[in-house]
Amino acid sequence: MKTDRTRFTLIHSADFDAYKDEHVTLSEEEKKINAESRIIWPLNCYAVLVQHPSLGNILFDTGIDSNWSYRWPRNLAEGYPVHQSFDLKEKLSELGLYVDDIGLLIISHLHFDHCGNLHLFRGTKAGQGVIVQEEEAKHAFMRSNIFDPAREVYHGDGYVRHEFNGLDGISFRLVSGDVKLADDLELLLLPGHTPGTMGMVVRTEEAGTVIFPSDAIYNATNYGPPAVLPGMCARPAEYAASIEKCRKIAEAEHGTVFFSHDVNAFKTYRLSPEWYE
Ligand SMILES: [Zn+2]
Repeated sequence: MKTDRTRFTLIHSADFDAYKDEHVTLSEEEKKINAESRIIWPLNCYAVLVQHPSLGNILFDTGIDSNWSYRWPRNLAEGYPVHQSFDLKEKLSELGLYVDDIGLLIISHLHFDHCGNLHLFRGTKAGQGVIVQEEEAKHAFMRSNIFDPAREVYHGDGYVRHEFNGLDGISFRLVSGDVKLADDLELLLLPGHTPGTMGMVVRTEEAGTVIFPSDAIYNATNYGPPAVLPGMCARPAEYAASIEKCRKIAEAEHGTVFFSHDVNAFKTYRLSPEWYE
């Protein structure tokens, strides 16, 4: 499929639950409730397909593995119950695309809700040279290889080893820092959530500048202003700086930030097969 101007669409991957304290700072009242029983926090996740006049089809993230129910470790399925998930191949076919039509695959970070369908790209063009930040790869490969004998699981911190480690037909192209793929398509290093979380900026004619910060900004509360850090935040100073990095671009270009896990914002997003142009 050829396009003469850059456009993108959001591919709904799944609806699932996490804990509220992981995503926003709790009030004092909520902290008391949470100490008794952790407050549940509903989430969506999605992939972004960009069609670019010179770069072709680019997929940013792959969402949750639609076969999570038998491919996930038990502790993950219990910690993050999935209510609904969609087959990425089917979603692509609604757009007239096969996995082989994707020319470039970018993974914002290697957590299960972003790289879960990487295996679908084994042996494809996009599977040869999946773009990931070097800091992310170092961290993810290390963390996902530590076995916790007490729980009999690999101690993943959101990383599921088999989803990215040792996949035949998948190789990575490691990048460090911001990457300009084209004047209207850039990647941003946004550390904090993980050491190598990466966002994407897309510039379109009608929708203008859109920033996908991935989990550098989960939701509108995190974004503020002022920025409100989530509970699950490995590097707070870097997390705050990454939010401000996105804000600076949004303000300079009158752009829009699309949050990664905000159920209210998600209701307002246009989903595939509809396009933003
Ligand atoms: Zn996430």
